[in-house]
Amino acid sequence: MSVRFADLVDLEDLQKMMLSLYNITGIPHGLVDNGNTVLCEIGWQEACRVFHRGDAVAAARCKASNLELNRLLQAGNSVGHCCLNGLMDFAVPIVVEGQHLASIVVGQVLNEPPNLEFFRQQARALGFEEEPYLAAIQKIPVIPRPQLESIMTLYANAARMLADKGLALWRLKQAEQQLAQANARLKQQVEAQTHELAEKNQRLQADIVLCGRIESELRHQQDKLQALLDASPVGVSWSSLDGQIEYVNRKFTELFGYRLGELPTVKDWYRQVCPDPQVQQNLIKPWVIQVGAAHKSGESVPPLDTLVTCKDGSQRRMLITTSWVGDRLLANFSDITPRWQVEQREKRREQTLELIAKGYPLSRVLESIVQGVEIESPSSRCSILLLDKDGQHLTLGAAPNLPEAYNQIVDGVAIGPQVGSCGTAAYLRQRVVVADIAHDPLWGGRFRRMALDSGLRACWSEPIFSSDGQVLGTFAIYHSQTCAPTAEDIIQIGHAANLASIALEHDLARRRLEYQAHMDFLTGVANRRYFVQTAEAEVARSQRYARPLSLLMLDVDFFKQVNDRYGHKAGDWVLQHLTQLLQQGLRSADLLGRLGGEEFAILLPETAEMQAIEVAERLRRAVSEDLIHLEGVERFSISLSIGVTTLVEGDQGLDEPLRRADKALYTAKRTGRNKVCVSTQTQENRVKAPCAGDV
Ligand code: GH3
Ligand code: MG
Ligand code: MG
Repeated sequence: MSVRFADLVDLEDLQKMMLSLYNITGIPHGLVDNGNTVLCEIGWQEACRVFHRGDAVAAARCKASNLELNRLLQAGNSVGHCCLNGLMDFAVPIVVEGQHLASIVVGQVLNEPPNLEFFRQQARALGFEEEPYLAAIQKIPVIPRPQLESIMTLYANAARMLADKGLALWRLKQAEQQLAQANARLKQQVEAQTHELAEKNQRLQADIVLCGRIESELRHQQDKLQALLDASPVGVSWSSLDGQIEYVNRKFTELFGYRLGELPTVKDWYRQVCPDPQVQQNLIKPWVIQVGAAHKSGESVPPLDTLVTCKDGSQRRMLITTSWVGDRLLANFSDITPRWQVEQREKRREQTLELIAKGYPLSRVLESIVQGVEIESPSSRCSILLLDKDGQHLTLGAAPNLPEAYNQIVDGVAIGPQVGSCGTAAYLRQRVVVADIAHDPLWGGRFRRMALDSGLRACWSEPIFSSDGQVLGTFAIYHSQTCAPTAEDIIQIGHAANLASIALEHDLARRRLEYQAHMDFLTGVANRRYFVQTAEAEVARSQRYARPLSLLMLDVDFFKQVNDRYGHKAGDWVLQHLTQLLQQGLRSADLLGRLGGEEFAILLPETAEMQAIEVAERLRRAVSEDLIHLEGVERFSISLSIGVTTLVEGDQGLDEPLRRADKALYTAKRTGRNKVCVSTQTQENRVKAPCAGDV
């Protein structure tokens, strides 16, 4: 605490109180602060005021006495002593909270009446006028010490009380001041901080605006990047170091059908799109390890060329290139499917052509064409229908994956302007695209019902043309959903139809050649070689299954005369006419062959001896009864001699039956012609002729 007494007490009030006290007690006294400043005083005696203080020696004594009194007061107790000028001085310290702030000083009193002699001596020694000085001494109040001390204690207590109160007030004031200062400081701080805050706020606002601008710029850049990536003709993805796929562009989804999150990690992705365990083991795994290592080494990894199975089950050929951008793996997916498809298509085309070249049956070749397209478009099912000889009906060529019931009702359908996709395409000689079988007017009745029941919703059909523009059939692609073909589909369907055309034309040419090789050029029936070859096979089959088989040998009687009479050309015509007559009397399973000249043979499968004789006789009669009409010539008839034989157990091949039949024929000739003779192993030469019974 650093406070002066004067700060605590109203000195004017104190002065009034001292005056009252002086008026009551007549004791001169004063108040001195701890800096020795006299704060107030009253009743100072003439002896001191005029004489002692007016003289240098006495004043010095007075001062020294005061100093001594002060020194004594330091102990904190009230003190009293006689001053060097012979008067009594008392002092009481006013101690406030342990601090000596001031002293009540009572001086210029005497405890007992003055020793006038002492003062007279002093007057003389100091040069004072004796009488006035002594008179002044005698005016000094004489107060006994106990009374003086009580008054002083009262006085000091009152002063202390005032000081305590003053101190409390001072403290209050101090506190108020400090509070005010603190308030002022606080206010200043608040103002400063408010200012600072306002500035910060302003800066923040500016920052927010800037951030907004940056954010919008960033968003704009992101949108631009997104638009760029989305417009990219290649699929793009990036993934984190731990293999999480974080972004795929639009092309990626277009290519594979997968959206972001559907296959969350790179591992999931490869497991799903390359499911073949061997491909995983031998191709994907080593490549993924290589890509992972490239993150540290910075080396580039060669692109991966692989087949990818898309979400819809279709396959695409991809060239996958990767690069690390920091901890992000950027992958580009270049679709090389078109090139791959062309290669695959070319490969399948070569395979089909090989099948054709190797002479595989037409049905097998057509199936290979159908399957080729179905492999290329796994969601499709295909058919090849063939236009009949009459050019009016379609028959089933190949449709291995269409429902059997559906194939059955299509087989043999008559073509027309409104007969489904294939019937119409064959009729109009142009491609017919039906994207919605359920609602297209080209489809109706049982075909529509059966197609819909079979889960077929769309059918695009392409006519198959021969090289000279004839419609050979149709190639059709079916889908289980309503859909129209893309440009790529059109190419594919055209390609398949073209391949089918090659197969059909080749088959036609082959059959023509075969026909030419097998058939007799004059009559159109089997030539000797083909007859023998077929008959040999038939003999073997009949023997194997123990089935009956008969053989007829026929020779025109006196044919030489026909040539001689009507000319060789007419003879040729007669031979042609004869074969037609014979064919009319035979079943489709029977085989008529021209063995040479005017000699024929007939193979009768599943025919026992009796039926064979009947057939022979029927033919003989039909020929002999037929009147041949040649221009400019009167009608005439010809006749046949026929030898009949039936397969017997010991027959190994055709030679023996032929020999027997020939022998029977010879017998018929020998025994009159225009007759049927029978020969068996057991009854050789025995003639069983329903005609004249020549032997
Ligand atoms: P037959 O058999 O009754 O004993 O008397 P044939 O007159 O028929 O006797 P042969 O078998 O000896 O004569 C067959 C004749 O058939 C000889 C030939 O002129 C004739 N011929 C053979 N091949 C052809 C042919 O391709 N065209 C024509 N026009 N005649 C043929
Ligand atoms: Mg003859
Ligand atoms: Mg002959």
